[in-house]
Amino acid sequence: MNDTSSSPENAPPAAPFAAGPPHIVLAGRPNVGKSTLFNRLIRSRRAITHDRPGITRDRMEGIVRRNGLPAYVVVDTGGVTLDAHAAVTEGPETLRGFEEDILRQTETALLAAAGVALVVDGRDGLLPLDEYLAAHLRRKGLPALCVVNKVDGVEREDELTAEFHSLGLPVIAVSAEHGYNMPLLAEALAELAGRDDKPAAEDARHNAVLRLAMLGRPNAGKSSLVNALSGEERMIVSSIAGTTRDSVDVRFVRNGQAYVFVDTAGVRRRARITDSVEKYSVSSALKSSGKADVTLLVLDATEGVSQQDKRLMDLLDTRKIPFLVLVNKCDMAPRAALKQLEKNIRAMLAFCPHVPVLPVSAKTGLDLRKIVPLAEKIHKECRVRVPTGRLNRAMEEVLARHQPPVIKRARAKFYYLTQAETAPPTFVFFVSDPERVPENYARYLERALRQLFGIVHAPMRLRLRPSHKKKQ
Ligand code: GDP
Ligand code: GDP
Repeated sequence: MNDTSSSPENAPPAAPFAAGPPHIVLAGRPNVGKSTLFNRLIRSRRAITHDRPGITRDRMEGIVRRNGLPAYVVVDTGGVTLDAHAAVTEGPETLRGFEEDILRQTETALLAAAGVALVVDGRDGLLPLDEYLAAHLRRKGLPALCVVNKVDGVEREDELTAEFHSLGLPVIAVSAEHGYNMPLLAEALAELAGRDDKPAAEDARHNAVLRLAMLGRPNAGKSSLVNALSGEERMIVSSIAGTTRDSVDVRFVRNGQAYVFVDTAGVRRRARITDSVEKYSVSSALKSSGKADVTLLVLDATEGVSQQDKRLMDLLDTRKIPFLVLVNKCDMAPRAALKQLEKNIRAMLAFCPHVPVLPVSAKTGLDLRKIVPLAEKIHKECRVRVPTGRLNRAMEEVLARHQPPVIKRARAKFYYLTQAETAPPTFVFFVSDPERVPENYARYLERALRQLFGIVHAPMRLRLRPSHKKKQ
């Protein structure tokens, strides 16, 4: 990793006219798509665009807003308006002139910049002028990232971005024309600008309804739990006329926060089901989970874990559905039996040790008050978004603590770490050769990331993608 490119402490002192929102400069060869990108960034945020003649001929600036507030100014350094493309393809003798022209324009813009996006063309591949510009930016020590444009879809992302990792800058693949990955880029640029206001966005969503699914075989105590949890605070029990019993939602409000138990038809049924081994449908259970933010799987402490429960746990895990396990009717189980049952459940959850197992009793009220806060915590962890700079510093630290093992006389080299998604948090390592990263090392990486970023109970994805060797 090129530390100097991402650490703000290496940035030059702010230029005198940099007051107000920080500036992010789009730099790059002609024809890579800078103005398309500029327009997309501006338009997608409905900001004001204005020409600012005088500094350079056709430099453009526009304010990018996030959460209604000006977050940063994006600056298009302007294309070279001569027949630049033709000249660049003509050969090295004309290249120098363009380098100078581009650098001069970029230079002026950089005076006020908080960060730079070096835009390159994924279809052209890495060209000498890209390398030249990247080296120039590295020398400046400004926070920078490499935007690989014209990646018109996820299919060829790895292939089109691979060689750009050698520039030593964080790489993001986008399509300015089709909008691919633009939210990720907007966020990365905000982060470069030092105004990553994601937390404010999270706050805004804080009061959204938290959707819960309560699963488990008949008689496990689901309806008792729903009733106990929604209790007096229950506001509406909505049953949509004309639909099946399966679409009944129970809504309630607690401490100003709204919750919904989805698909509680089976749950609310008061009629006694005597056959406790009656099968519940795994596919309809998964469907309910799909409608919820967090799934609560209820087991019966007096019955143990059925095959169906086990299958469901495996499926929830492989589908990365956030869930927790409630062991209900604890009041009925002798202490030793309960301990043994918990041990069995933990063993079944060996591949997802992050899943919480909570013994409760709907009857006595034991630990019921822990359930909703725990679900909330899981939901919050699912939405964790770690800034790229922090991720890569963490990666260095984690690798230093335990080196990757030597496999067939070599170690895998880790170049870069990025968070591709939230819900669940998905981290992508760019690695020289992923086959040299054994399962247990991948698990070590996951544990380390979980610890560093407080993702304790939520599911998480970790991906290893092949990437080319760095040149430096
Ligand atoms: P600039 O000179 O760097 O400002 O580049 P422009 O924004 O003018 O774009 C150069 C050419 O690339 C134009 O023909 C654009 O339509 C095209 N282009 C820009 N972005 C994309 C993209 O994401 N995918 C594809 N396929 N073409 C693009
Ligand atoms: P559901 O079919 O999963 O909705 O289960 P119910 O909520 O209808 O509960 C099935 C039976 O177990 C009922 O007779 C409940 O009174 C009883 N039950 C539920 N939770 C508990 C508990 O924590 N302790 C005890 N002793 N009985 C419970």
